[in-house]
Amino acid sequence: MRSTQLLIADEWVPAADGATSETVDPATNTVIGTFAEATVADVNAAVSAARAGFESDAWQGMTPDQRGQLLWRIAEMLERDAAEIAALETLDQGQPSFMSSGVTLPLSAQVFRYYAGFATKIQGKVAPISIPGNLTYQRRVPLGVCALITPWNFPLAIAAWKLAPALATGNAVILKPAEQTPLSTVRLVEICREAGVPSGVVNLLTGGPEVGKALVAHRGVDKVSFTGSTEVGQHIARAAADDFKRTTLELGGKAPSIVCADADIDAAVMGNLQGAVFNTGQACGAYTRFFVHSSRVDEFTSKLAAAADSLPIGPGQDPNTIVGPLVSQEHLDRVASFVQTGRSQGAELVTGGARADGDLAKGFFYRPTVFAGVRDDMTIAREEIFGPVLSVMAYDDMDEAVARANDTDYGLVAVLWTKDLVAAHTVPPRLRFGTVFVNQLPLIDPAAPWGGFGMSGWGRELGEYSIDGFTETQSTFVNLA
Ligand code: NAD
Repeated sequence: MRSTQLLIADEWVPAADGATSETVDPATNTVIGTFAEATVADVNAAVSAARAGFESDAWQGMTPDQRGQLLWRIAEMLERDAAEIAALETLDQGQPSFMSSGVTLPLSAQVFRYYAGFATKIQGKVAPISIPGNLTYQRRVPLGVCALITPWNFPLAIAAWKLAPALATGNAVILKPAEQTPLSTVRLVEICREAGVPSGVVNLLTGGPEVGKALVAHRGVDKVSFTGSTEVGQHIARAAADDFKRTTLELGGKAPSIVCADADIDAAVMGNLQGAVFNTGQACGAYTRFFVHSSRVDEFTSKLAAAADSLPIGPGQDPNTIVGPLVSQEHLDRVASFVQTGRSQGAELVTGGARADGDLAKGFFYRPTVFAGVRDDMTIAREEIFGPVLSVMAYDDMDEAVARANDTDYGLVAVLWTKDLVAAHTVPPRLRFGTVFVNQLPLIDPAAPWGGFGMSGWGRELGEYSIDGFTETQSTFVNLA
């Protein structure tokens, strides 16, 4: 059992009222730790600490080169402790170990190294103004205090991709991990201290939605970088209007996958299945709506169902596991209710559609589920399920496929499967999504921007876009006359 506290002004402290909450192993439904449940008083204290940390000589006096070295050290420490932190992520989140140790930890370290390099390359401009006797230049200056609010599906990786650019640009932060999965973020904050982040620059508040709400409402917070549900994103956008807080919102998705008549069906089946069930479908970029050319739809559906049936389900600690547990009982119930709605609205259940039984019945396991004959207006084709539920639909021509793929509130990710070079380059610009993959899994790289159109959110993260997202442009005019 672990018992974790808040980090405020470089001190590990309990919640002001001593309250704690529990976190469970989703594979066994057993409590694995307790964490401090921050109060409004803790939020106020963390914001004050972050302001002091932001303004401190230790942070303001750190050169870009020193900030870069700091981030590099964090990357090295993540790699040093990778096995332990990956095991923690698997225990708390359920993430299969091939994901936690093969993707989450390497990606998180890579993100810190990527932004370590940026710390010395955040450049301004000199504008060629027409006012005689004046020099004007523009610099990118940090925003100040940033609240980084993260979801439960990729706790460490998403915290890393917010924290690294926030520090590279010289901000102070308050991390607020999801209440279901706080443990790897606590370890990340421990590493930040060990690496030498000055007092108050990184603060940690654990707790539920009330902590997030209090951060969003706080006038001392300059920016909210949020990844989570569209519904909470809407709430944050409204609340942020009160003081024009800067926001980056990475929200939900409902990714379409267009499988053309000429596609390599076996490759498309495997790629789509992996794209659909990685992290047990608990991914904003998960492939969910499969538009398959009518000449290939029966072949695709039967191969997809057979492949889905053969995927090993089990605890994340088992190295053979591909499909781990869902994160919580509440989420399991939600996924099961979407499947029930799909059936009652007339979709054909080809495989899955039930919890895993036997030894797995005590955890939150759900079998990969394939529906065929799905109509675009069905709930399972419109709402984000965030679980291993795949909907197959037939189409006849590309204009129709593009229109139906675009017919969604979301716009995060889309994928196209084709051998036709022309289609591979002419279809993506017609798809209204932040990222379009061609014959590919949904991949994340620190250098490639991530974010969505429409109700998938505001702004982009990763790449140089995060540098913009964590800075303001400031102009200076100097009278040289
Ligand atoms: P969630 O919105 O319920 O919670 C996310 C975080 O916000 C948690 O830390 C939570 O405590 C906090 N929170 C809840 N209510 C809040 C409020 N009113 N104000 C401020 N903070 C609040 O999301 P979740 O269930 O943890 O995560 C799943 C969602 O995240 C899915 O919709 C998924 O698509 C989305 N997601 C998006 C991306 C992306 O990059 N676009 C990546 C991962 C997950």
